[in-house]
Amino acid sequence: MIKKLLDRIFKSKHAPSIAHASSTTHPPHKAQQRSKLSAKSAHKHVDGPHHGALSIAHKTHKIDRDLLSNAALKTTEGLHKAGFEAYIVGGAVRDLLLNRRPKDFDVATDATPEQVNRIFRRSRLIGKRFRLVHVLFGDETIEVSTFRGSHLEAAGDAKVSDSGRIIRDNVFGSIVDDALRRDFTANALYYNPASQEILDFHNGYADIKAGILRIIGKPETRYAEDPVRMLRAVRLSAKLGLNIEASSQAPIAKMANLLEDVPPSRLFDEMLKLFLSGHAMESVAALRAQHLHHGLLPMLDVVLEQPMGERFVMLALQNTDERILAGKSANPSFLFASLLWHEMLVAWENHKKDGQHAIPALHLATSEVIASQAEKLAIHNRYTATMREIWGLQPRFEQRAGKRPFALLTHPRYRAGYDFLLLRCASGELPMELGEWWTTFANADGEARTAMLQADSTPKKRRKRPRKKTTAITPE
Ligand code: ATP
Ligand code: MG
Repeated sequence: MIKKLLDRIFKSKHAPSIAHASSTTHPPHKAQQRSKLSAKSAHKHVDGPHHGALSIAHKTHKIDRDLLSNAALKTTEGLHKAGFEAYIVGGAVRDLLLNRRPKDFDVATDATPEQVNRIFRRSRLIGKRFRLVHVLFGDETIEVSTFRGSHLEAAGDAKVSDSGRIIRDNVFGSIVDDALRRDFTANALYYNPASQEILDFHNGYADIKAGILRIIGKPETRYAEDPVRMLRAVRLSAKLGLNIEASSQAPIAKMANLLEDVPPSRLFDEMLKLFLSGHAMESVAALRAQHLHHGLLPMLDVVLEQPMGERFVMLALQNTDERILAGKSANPSFLFASLLWHEMLVAWENHKKDGQHAIPALHLATSEVIASQAEKLAIHNRYTATMREIWGLQPRFEQRAGKRPFALLTHPRYRAGYDFLLLRCASGELPMELGEWWTTFANADGEARTAMLQADSTPKKRRKRPRKKTTAITPE
């Protein structure tokens, strides 16, 4: 009943500006690719339910089913059984076509969030901006979204700012609308695991095969609607080795300033994705080349504009890339602690010059840097607590006598502190010998550890002898 009503309300009407743009931005390419594909093996639904989408069969796309997650399969199956359409969408299909194992799977459906929620016992409704459902299978979560409509539709709950930025777009729509509001052609593919068919509304398949990242619609309009798409273009092209198509690339430099209006928390999320993509070094170089730094991305300013700490920050990014590409986890707190370390060192030095002892000076500097930077960069409290710990442990690595090194090994943040120490050594801030000492010490057995300890050079605190009580002599 509700489904029928929604179908009637949202029977596809394209958003005028985008639909117009998509047919004018690259007509020769589109016509060319489409005819090439249809001639080969793609099947075009002209009057079918999918309004001219290309249908790409398994024999063409050859997606390796072993790369699919069971949870995603169960989700689409569950929705199909209940009579709904359901597809794996977005980055996962793109990654599968590039023969990469997707890091997560999203599903799009014509069922409403409430309907999805009712179908899966272990699921929950989330999201304020747009309601989604998280379906849980063991430790895997599948994000299920209802096809979204254009923010230009009169119905629904949508809002656009003066610059054209979409502030709110809580509108359901058809699969055609849903494809149209996605960012890149490569991200607008709908894979049905049951039929193994991919629906392709914007020639994303051909673009992926040609190594191209192309924005859907008129680039200027799409970047104005959501300036974060410029960052996504740079991040995804660096991560996937795709070239940003010329007309998608051209407006970026002149529209970069629109990023100033994006809420800091969204910029933070996107920068975090970029730093943890496994391709942070290339992404940072690409952002610089696209003039997307300088005052627009506070976090990037921190990376690029510190003459003293540049080597340290670059080593930290390289180290993070290596960890991620090796399938290890990378802790965002560690990354932020690295990005701000040299700012910390300056503040620490200043407090010592003012006459503070090393440890209280370190704590003062930590609070100062976190207070000024965490807000600017929108670093959440849950990260700052660990940053403090990583920094706070650093002076303890310089104490190699007595019981202290043993105590440090048992500290819950020892590993992060030690990795941080190694970066400091590799950047030339501390002698390599110190890092090597800790590596050996941590791996040695009890006796060998004791033999490694250095003589205690810290002056022993002199025990004060208790003063003899003096009894006041009171004159008689
Ligand atoms: P990643 O591999 O980094 O997760 P992704 O493309 O999957 O890349 P997500 O943020 O997970 O990125 O988004 C999932 C999908 O949602 C995208 O593939 C795209 O179709 C759509 N999408 C995400 N962000 C935007 C945006 N700003 N504008 C339009 N569509 C978007
Ligand atoms: Mg994704």
